[in-house]
Amino acid sequence: MSGDELSFVQEALNTNWVAPKGANIDNFEKEIAQITDSPFAIALNSGTAAIHLALKLLGVTQGDFVLVQSLTFCASANPVVYCGAIPVFIGSEKETWNMCPTELERALIALQSENLLSRVKAIIPVYLFGMPPKMRELMNLSKRFGIPIIEDAAEALGSTFGNRAAGSLAGLGILSFNGNKIVTTSGGGMLLTNNKAYADRCLNLATQAREDKPYYSHVEIGYNYRLSNISAGIGRGQLTSLNDRIMARRSNFLRYKLLLDRLSEQFPFRYSYQSENSDRYSNRWLSSFQFEAINQSKGILTEHIIASMRKLNIEASYIWKPLHMQEVFKDCMYFGTNHAGQLFKNGVCFPSGTNLSEHDWQYIISSLSTAIENYFTPSSSND
Ligand SMILES: *Cc1c(COP(=O)(O)O)cnc(C)c1O
Repeated sequence: MSGDELSFVQEALNTNWVAPKGANIDNFEKEIAQITDSPFAIALNSGTAAIHLALKLLGVTQGDFVLVQSLTFCASANPVVYCGAIPVFIGSEKETWNMCPTELERALIALQSENLLSRVKAIIPVYLFGMPPKMRELMNLSKRFGIPIIEDAAEALGSTFGNRAAGSLAGLGILSFNGNKIVTTSGGGMLLTNNKAYADRCLNLATQAREDKPYYSHVEIGYNYRLSNISAGIGRGQLTSLNDRIMARRSNFLRYKLLLDRLSEQFPFRYSYQSENSDRYSNRWLSSFQFEAINQSKGILTEHIIASMRKLNIEASYIWKPLHMQEVFKDCMYFGTNHAGQLFKNGVCFPSGTNLSEHDWQYIISSLSTAIENYFTPSSSND
């Protein structure tokens, strides 16, 4: 928490707007619209709901196909299944770990040659851990094949591509304000769009698709997906420190990188990470790195690092396991090399909170250094 949340929540209580309606929602939407330079922002009760409604706006229905980045959280693909549609998974490239344009093109050509292109309704690239995908190439393919993009920028508030905010490039995008994201409302999401008709319809679908009549009238099935005014108050309080949060996350990343630079000079391993360039700027929501021992000594270096740090109660973890490798999606098509699987096998997420103390850092640095040292020291115990 930043410290400003309580005053916005208090305002909601004082004005008796304890409902999915009220000034905090209106202002939170305005603030996010301004930060992301999006003409319309609709506050919803989760990022998952935002993806679901984005798919509804594009008319995704039974038997359609949606092309989804495989290396992501399940919430990028689950709403495709809610619509009765079929996810087709796309592999990752090495620079950003996001949807590979070459593989996307291969998938589109394959579906086209099977006369299935008319059933392909959307492409969902992800800003994994905050890093923008290769949006220029992806948007070119979107135009060439006439299939709209939904940007899953759930992890990427504050990231930019070519000076445009994450989620605002392709006309439809989503953000998440779940508890673990860079800004939270405890649970929440936002749909971003430049299309007024989409914005109006999204709001209508999120509030049970009520018709504009003096009595309750419904001609279509809607959802209860609107954000609460209390939650929006927490979000407004969080936004007052957005820049500090981005700087803290980016400085976490730099700190890990400097440590790993030093360790990789001492020990025979390579490490890599999602790279920025003149287009891509990441909020570095999670500090994630790939590890590869030059000569494997005691199994996989990544497994060793995660297990050693966890033993010391430090929350090092695996990155997302690709969705095409998940039991629930095992029957779905996958266009990609084994690169997404390699990223999963070799990837580690390190503690990345905005409130790590100097004491926390010393503990993390010494445990990571010791983990790597032990891996390469033949005499150490075989844990
Ligand atoms: C968190 C997340 C979501 C879903 O957001 P919720 O608000 O948790 O529903 C979707 N996609 C990605 C990549 C996420 O990290």
